[in-house]
Amino acid sequence: PWALSLTDVSVTYPNGTQALKNVTVHIEPGEIVSIVGLSGSGKSTLIRTINGLVPVTSGTVTAGGHDVTRARGRALRELRGHVGMIFQGFNLADRVSVLDNVLVGRFAHTPTIRTVLGLNRAADRELALRALDSVGMLEKVWTRAGALSGGQKQRVAIARALSQEPSVMLADEPVASLDPPTAHAVMNDLARTSSERGLTVLINIHLMDLARQYTQRMIGLRDGELVYDGSAAEATDAD
Ligand code: ADP
Ligand code: ADP
Repeated sequence: PWALSLTDVSVTYPNGTQALKNVTVHIEPGEIVSIVGLSGSGKSTLIRTINGLVPVTSGTVTAGGHDVTRARGRALRELRGHVGMIFQGFNLADRVSVLDNVLVGRFAHTPTIRTVLGLNRAADRELALRALDSVGMLEKVWTRAGALSGGQKQRVAIARALSQEPSVMLADEPVASLDPPTAHAVMNDLARTSSERGLTVLINIHLMDLARQYTQRMIGLRDGELVYDGSAAEATDAD
């Protein structure tokens, strides 16, 4: 797993919005960290600086010792191949099978002619199936993704990210659209995966209770500034 490091990072969008202001955070390999804060506080921007989806205005971001802020082209694609990403909206292709969705995710960052044509090797299928098994979705491999419930879709999205064998996992509001029991189950999956694989995991979440319960460390943002960095269990709403 990778260490992650943001040093004095500021992000100003082209329209002038200052989304992050001089944020410094160091995350050790294997840590599971929640990022909390009100809507618009910069959580999503922070997570996107780590895979280079949002360029930083100043400061440095490193992932596994690689300087993300200066990576371009092929180097950036290779970095992204190590970063598993889970979104709120699942990003699944509804009309194709669960297995195909997971297989496609594995090569999203480094497509080859073989993978675009769907000529997956047995080893790729095995990784995909193992990942689906680890989130309890093995019996749904042939189901169209569109026929799944929200919680099942999010589990497939986790499996897709896991089958990539990432060095770090970024989850942007992974439970925002789920009912409470399902949200608990998905957070539990993420926490278990992190501890079993020793995977570094960063989760944006606006629900403090879930953050306290399923992550060790919490980072609090307010208007783009870091206002809390410490134990998740001991964080209060006022922080
Ligand atoms: P959060 O994830 O905590 O809701 P965001 O990182 O999405 O916060 O947004 C932080 C601030 O940056 C907000 O004011 C938001 O409106 C603004 N913002 C986000 N994305 C963009 C963008 N692409 N262009 C301009 N402003 C943006
Ligand atoms: P249909 O439901 O009519 O059989 P298709 O399966 O041909 O539709 O494709 C539906 C959509 O899914 C298309 O937009 C196609 O580009 C996309 N698609 C097809 N195969 C895959 C795949 N393996 N992974 C992701 N998207 C796919």
